[in-house]
Amino acid sequence: MRLSKIRIAGFKSFVDPVTLDLRSNLTGILGPNGCGKSNTIDAVRWVMGESSAKHLRGASMEDVIFNGSSSRKPIGLASVELVFDNSDGTLGGAYAQYAEISVKRQVSRDGDSRYFLNGAKCRRRDITDIFLGTGLGPRSYAIIEQGMISRLIEAKPEELRNTLEEAAGISRYKERRRETETR
Ligand code: ATP
Ligand code: MG
Repeated sequence: MRLSKIRIAGFKSFVDPVTLDLRSNLTGILGPNGCGKSNTIDAVRWVMGESSAKHLRGASMEDVIFNGSSSRKPIGLASVELVFDNSDGTLGGAYAQYAEISVKRQVSRDGDSRYFLNGAKCRRRDITDIFLGTGLGPRSYAIIEQGMISRLIEAKPEELRNTLEEAAGISRYKERRRETETR
């Protein structure tokens, strides 16, 4: 499975709709300070269901919506869509039939947050569920940000174990067991 497109509109510094085409397995994002490199990664983490504004470097969730610049007025809706190439069948089960999987999240200023899976409205849980155990997710090891290596080195045993369990694909089953036990 490979992330093949990122479509961003109204998210942080990306006011006009833009599609980032990731054509190879290695993509570098270059640019001057403040041009939006980290915002791109925030966008990816946000679609995957990140619900903490702090982890997206903002004070409130509304901070992800473009809030204006010297030449542009603020807008009312942020939208990010990730398109995954699933032609190798990484996502199996009900998703195996899809060569492309699209995951989209939108939020408006009134706080209404919506998720879509291949264009159909879904719950946040549906998104986190399909990626659990694949290494992708809002806080997974697929995104290694500044300071994360030192946090891992200094992590408490339980935290380190959580990371290893996600990498080994065990977390999906633990989550299911936890749900069954609390039902
Ligand atoms: P650096 O090289 O310093 O890490 P960067 O390319 O990673 O820079 P980002 O942190 O992605 O930069 O982008 C910061 C810019 O995004 C700032 O100019 C900030 O004003 C802008 N920005 C963040 N949130 C919003 C928002 N809600 N609306 C408009 N602009 C925003
Ligand atoms: Mg940055």
